[in-house]
Amino acid sequence: MTTAVSVPTPVVPRRRRTPEEIAAVPVAGERRVLLAAPRGYCAGVDRAVVAVEKALEHYGAPVYVRKEIVHNKHVVTTLQDKGAIFVEETDQVPQGALVVFSAHGVSPAVKQSAEERQLRTIDATCPLVTKVHREAVRFARAENHILLIGHEGHEEVEGTYGEAPDHTTVVNNPEEARTVQVADPERLIWLSQTTLSVDETMEIVAILRDRFPHLQDPPSDDICYATSNRQAAIKKIAPEADLVIVVGSANSSNSVRLVEVALEYGARAAHRVDFAEQIDESWFEGVGTVGVTSGASVPEVLVQRVLSLLADYGYGDVEEVVTAEEDILFSLPKELRTTLKAAGDASRGLGGHGSRPTS
Ligand code: SF4
Repeated sequence: MTTAVSVPTPVVPRRRRTPEEIAAVPVAGERRVLLAAPRGYCAGVDRAVVAVEKALEHYGAPVYVRKEIVHNKHVVTTLQDKGAIFVEETDQVPQGALVVFSAHGVSPAVKQSAEERQLRTIDATCPLVTKVHREAVRFARAENHILLIGHEGHEEVEGTYGEAPDHTTVVNNPEEARTVQVADPERLIWLSQTTLSVDETMEIVAILRDRFPHLQDPPSDDICYATSNRQAAIKKIAPEADLVIVVGSANSSNSVRLVEVALEYGARAAHRVDFAEQIDESWFEGVGTVGVTSGASVPEVLVQRVLSLLADYGYGDVEEVVTAEEDILFSLPKELRTTLKAAGDASRGLGGHGSRPTS
């Protein structure tokens, strides 16, 4: 379900040694790569990227996109090349034009602003983010206060918070969990951003529950299947890894979490890169086992480039470590489905299945 995309040319840093020289340096044990699976594109990212591609195909350029459609430089650049224009806010979109809302979701205020400007909209919010929005609305209506665990300033948190700002307090970290004040500790529920560290979120919940014993859990996990699965895979690899390379952008929450989780679970070093060309040769001193994974917004082509560079460095022995099978596919946004159906475009399958752990 990975979307075919062209690869922009990244800046190539200066190299002090050739790949052959790196490959010739002795290391303890065999040189090998443990490749995490699942990794890369999740169903929500796939849906959002295909939504912009289909919008360009059926309505023609330009198609405006509010914020980065997904947090990945390569994906954004590729869509820009095809005619997408990324804006920060809807007031930068010409009146009456077509705008796509990103996978991270938007608050009701953003939707209202688009309506006032008579914009045509396609909402590519991931259905799993929409689920959290619905929970926020439902619990706020029932006069509960929501402790929203997440990173203030992240687009997803802004969107969820915007559903019930008078009933929501954002809790960024364990320190804030120890000090947050609430008016009525009897009517309290926690929700979370979908891309957090599973372990850190549970730590925050434990602190909150200790302080507020009546704290309710969400009806189902808010941290999504893709985030949990990618963290589970890197947890399995990390204890054996001298070095973990996470492919993903700096503003991708789930990619940054993968670096943290790798270090927490025993990797000797872990680095995030957007492109293979950002890999620093100094990372490989004495390295036998390299773990490789990628965030949920990363196309597989970028991982393959990393593997190719690693093979040049002598790490051509690749073992895939599979901890779950994923076969989820979300339907495209309904605004687009109608157009595609009318145009007889059945190139994109609809419907979804499930995700199952292998162990
Ligand atoms: S990471 Fe999870 S919540 Fe975010 S787009 Fe992917 S499936 Fe949806």
